[in-house]
Amino acid sequence: MPLLSKLPILIAGGGPVGVITALALARQGLPVRVFEADSKVNESPRAATTHAATLEMLEGLGLVDEVIRRGLVEPLFRNWDRTTGKLVAEFDFGVLKNDTRYPFAVQCEQHKLAKLAIERLAAFPHATVEFSARVVALSQSSDGVTMTVETENGTHTVKGSYLIGADGGRSTVRKALGIAFEGYTHPERFLILTTPFDIGTRFPGCTRNYLSDPEDWCALFKVSGDDGKGLWRVLSTTRLEQTEAELFADEAVERRLQKFVPKAGRYEIVHRNLYNVHQRVAASFRQGRVFLAGDAAHVNNPLGGLGLNFGIHDAIELSGLLGGVIRGEAPAETLDLYDKHRRPLNIEFVQQQTIANKKRMEEKDPAARARNFEQLAATAADPVAHRAYLLRASLLDSVGKPTSALGERVSID
Ligand SMILES: Cc1cc2nc3c(=O)[nH]c(=O)nc-3n(C[C@H](O)[C@H](O)[C@H](O)COP(=O)(O)OP(=O)(O)OC[C@H]3O[C@@H](n4cnc5c(N)ncnc54)[C@H](O)[C@@H]3O)c2cc1C
Repeated sequence: MPLLSKLPILIAGGGPVGVITALALARQGLPVRVFEADSKVNESPRAATTHAATLEMLEGLGLVDEVIRRGLVEPLFRNWDRTTGKLVAEFDFGVLKNDTRYPFAVQCEQHKLAKLAIERLAAFPHATVEFSARVVALSQSSDGVTMTVETENGTHTVKGSYLIGADGGRSTVRKALGIAFEGYTHPERFLILTTPFDIGTRFPGCTRNYLSDPEDWCALFKVSGDDGKGLWRVLSTTRLEQTEAELFADEAVERRLQKFVPKAGRYEIVHRNLYNVHQRVAASFRQGRVFLAGDAAHVNNPLGGLGLNFGIHDAIELSGLLGGVIRGEAPAETLDLYDKHRRPLNIEFVQQQTIANKKRMEEKDPAARARNFEQLAATAADPVAHRAYLLRASLLDSVGKPTSALGERVSID
């Protein structure tokens, strides 16, 4: 494949968004270098749910069959009232069979996706992924970018044509550009406990369950695990004043899990993880030759499984725009579309939806809870409303929504 430019596109961050962006660029013949601060792919339990719109994009990158093979296919999700134990509504992505080739979600852990993309990148001589390489500074001029990288062998500078900051929520690139991360942080933390106990024996027939409760809501998900034998993740909320030591203590973990899913005998636990919960969007996704993608550009609570999905959509849109401009098929101004399109789209589809999902799970007002349940049940029972709800929940609706159909500079606050 002839190389389209000499200077590589630089990517800060080798998380799933960084390496998928790299693959989307490398496949177009564009030289690309990824710099990852850690010594290996982060395996902590975070994203797993991959929606239809994203599966279609992964198909375009030749990854979808392997993602399905390494994950679990799940067409359903269920909403429960935990206080009564009643099923409120069941949604079935199968109703989207005429809308997508993938009428289901795939539960594939994000470290598997990142590793898969890195495996595929190895086939491109013009693509590299460097671990233990932390980006610490950057500068740009009208014809390129320069980045300072700290490695075990010292600090050096690298030059590139463009730079993509895919370095996560605490993005060094975003901070170096002085771009505000607008929005708020919830005054609580989410705890994920992972167990090999088969919660499917208590919640048969569906591996994605949301249990609303004014005091103690939780979400129960199955992932395949590295050995394919299956693990369940139990996601619930904690108060800020509760320390990690307190929350991770064996007795506290056991009490929490027995409360949500009672069983004989103690739970075996394979992971305990605590996460801050944010709703934030960068004030701009671009400054000159530097772009932000994935969590560096936007973060949201995980209810609905949308954050990484949207980050992968960033990767695909940005790599397409850059390819067009570098090949000379489109003027440089086309790159403005990235911020104009993706920023309002994130607010409209990801922030609004995840904020609504969280409110529904934790609603304390009995009348509002009852209304929520009626609405969910009515939506699930009406085929037209059911389909419309899932087109939104799977992000199919957001894909291709033109910039002109989005509001002016909307703010998340
Ligand atoms: C509990 C939980 C559950 C979630 N579930 C879902 C889900 O089901 N579906 C979904 O779509 N999303 C989900 N998300 C969100 C998802 O995990 C994130 O959106 C995703 O990790 C974003 O990927 P990323 O590559 O942008 O950032 P990250 O995964 O944070 O990767 C950024 C990378 O950059 C590296 N880095 C940081 N600073 C530097 C630097 N200065 N130089 C070089 N490298 C650097 C980091 O080491 C890291 O490897 C969930 C999140 C959480 C917390």
